[in-house]
Amino acid sequence: MQSSRSLSAWNKSQQYIPGGVNSPVRNFSKVEGHPRFIDRGQGSKIYDIDGNEYIDYVASWGPLVLGHAHPDVVTAISAAASRGTSFGAPTTLETELAEIVVNAVPSIEKVRLVNSGTEATMSAIRVARGYTGRDKIVKIDGCYHGHVDYLLAKAGSGVATFGLSDSGGVPEDFARNTLTIPFNDPKALRTTVEANQDEIACLILEPIMGNMGIIPPHDGYLNEIREITEENGIVLIFDEVITGFRVAYGGAQTYFDVIPDMTCLGKIIGGGLPVGAYGGKHEIMKYVAPEGDVYQAGTLSGNPLAVTAGITTLNNLAEQGVYEKLEEKASALAEGLAAATKKHNIDAWHSRVGSMLMLYFTPETVTNADGARTADTDRFRQYFWGLLENGIYIAPSQFEAGFVSLVHTDEDINATVNAASEVLSKLQNS
Ligand SMILES: *Cc1c(COP(=O)(O)O)cnc(C)c1O
Repeated sequence: MQSSRSLSAWNKSQQYIPGGVNSPVRNFSKVEGHPRFIDRGQGSKIYDIDGNEYIDYVASWGPLVLGHAHPDVVTAISAAASRGTSFGAPTTLETELAEIVVNAVPSIEKVRLVNSGTEATMSAIRVARGYTGRDKIVKIDGCYHGHVDYLLAKAGSGVATFGLSDSGGVPEDFARNTLTIPFNDPKALRTTVEANQDEIACLILEPIMGNMGIIPPHDGYLNEIREITEENGIVLIFDEVITGFRVAYGGAQTYFDVIPDMTCLGKIIGGGLPVGAYGGKHEIMKYVAPEGDVYQAGTLSGNPLAVTAGITTLNNLAEQGVYEKLEEKASALAEGLAAATKKHNIDAWHSRVGSMLMLYFTPETVTNADGARTADTDRFRQYFWGLLENGIYIAPSQFEAGFVSLVHTDEDINATVNAASEVLSKLQNS
């Protein structure tokens, strides 16, 4: 497979952009080699600048549930662009998107639109702190909430430890109020809450972990943390930036029927343009400026193009049978991959919720971040390159989810399973 144009594009981009990319995951450093530069996308496929075609399971890291360049989205944003791209004054489009979100997501009575998932989590936590008058926050080891300073905190082992930052440039003081506990472990939350009585503003988590592969919650886990947080006046925040409108129209909270106090959204609600959102009960959201004294703002927030892409995407997803269709496609893919690893006797843990799926190269059952870390990243690297050579584009990391979209055809899925099987046959357990 020819990739010389991508290689020279990358050599040039590295002269001007750190690592040659505007977000680290786009770099192929975890799998070694150079990233493919993308020229265009159409439906389930992307095309790189060397003219190679790939069936895409990255979907811009989740947003493109309708596929690339969906005609409804393209038409809508073209029309919006011709009326002007930003005013810094309210538009009815913003209310339209907000209304859709409020009607869809059970925990959200009021919602504020922002420009990214990072902004959403950062703002939600500020509001939770303003509302409770408490400083400490609890997060889960391996959950990613964007690049907010105090959310880049490293996990301690076992019981919660005070956060140490995983990133340079974050003063120790910033991570000092971040407590980290393992996923699927309600006891760890109880212990942490008891040790920090009346000091914890919020617990933030991905209800289905989606940034260490895919890790679903155990039966009853979300209910139990809902109870503990409620008993202790702790704001429960679901970061549904991936799961919102992905696993169900109303997100994971609808899927599992557990209602948090606040919810963060992003990715799908922007339909491929930059949008994030955070919302919750009016009782909490009334703290947001200008109604309340928790300041949060954005020059381009509620941008007409981005909001239009979001509205169009969500309206498509509101149609009958959409999530059943996603489930069918994703389960066919997951079953095909599971059969392939079994046939070739490869140690694998397959994980899937709706259209989010993951193949971990580990004999372990993955229930939290430590389990995910047992995966064989060298084997993943070989698998990744094998698929890419066969025209299948998955995320260049063992710990990033795969996304099935509505435009993946049976043919796409069969081609993917066949390619995976061929690649796996060369990776026999050593
Ligand atoms: C992607 C992601 C974010 C960050 O969103 P950005 O738009 O990249 O800032 C936050 N939380 C979760 C769960 C995510 O997957």
